[in-house]
Amino acid sequence: MQPNQHCKILIIEDDPGISNFIKTAVNAAGYMAIVAESGKTALQMISSHCPDCILLDLGLPDMDGREIIRSVRSWTQTPIIVISARSMEEDKAAALDDGADDYVTKPFGTVELLARIRTALRHTRTTAESNEIGLIGTYHVGGLEIDYKKMRVLLDGSEVHLTPNEFRIVALLGKHAGRVMTYKAMLQELWGPSASMDNKILRVHMASIRRKIEPDPNEPRYIFTEVGVGYRMAENEEKS
Ligand code: CA
Repeated sequence: MQPNQHCKILIIEDDPGISNFIKTAVNAAGYMAIVAESGKTALQMISSHCPDCILLDLGLPDMDGREIIRSVRSWTQTPIIVISARSMEEDKAAALDDGADDYVTKPFGTVELLARIRTALRHTRTTAESNEIGLIGTYHVGGLEIDYKKMRVLLDGSEVHLTPNEFRIVALLGKHAGRVMTYKAMLQELWGPSASMDNKILRVHMASIRRKIEPDPNEPRYIFTEVGVGYRMAENEEKS
């Protein structure tokens, strides 16, 4: 299957060194890359080219990248992957809460970038499907399985005894597998819009979850911490 040729990727980046690097990687993977060097050009290109995925540098000369996210999200769900500097953890979380789908941190490699793009494109195609999975399906990666219908988690075939809150956290991350979820998004999804925005409750639950599902809680293989931002569950495996 060669679906890449049909996918158009818009790179919004004012540093020509970085945009050339990304363009080369994206073209080599068989996607079609187009570049915008300013926010104003980017917004025009988004409406005229209808890209399948947007790679967005938050630090643009004429506009805060978050304005672009909010503008795009007012009319389309096109996936947006933020390209961010390492020290900008708060900006990354805020961009995700504005509606960006994911991020990569500079400096990043081609493999990581292409994995993020593939995940973003897959999720656009299957939003309805993943809602369906969240209701009745299963998630599995390695020895971990979430059975949504029976509301239980299995590790190497044996049931893991999670508390109701622990199950809800694992189920939520499984539904968004492969993508980062911010602390804020998780707290709101789990305990409603008036939930406390204190991440401590998540950290406490996560420590307990990891003791139950991770062979080595210090080297997680199922749920990863994105420092200062949130958590990401490993991408689920395609059913064979
Ligand atoms: Ca920049």
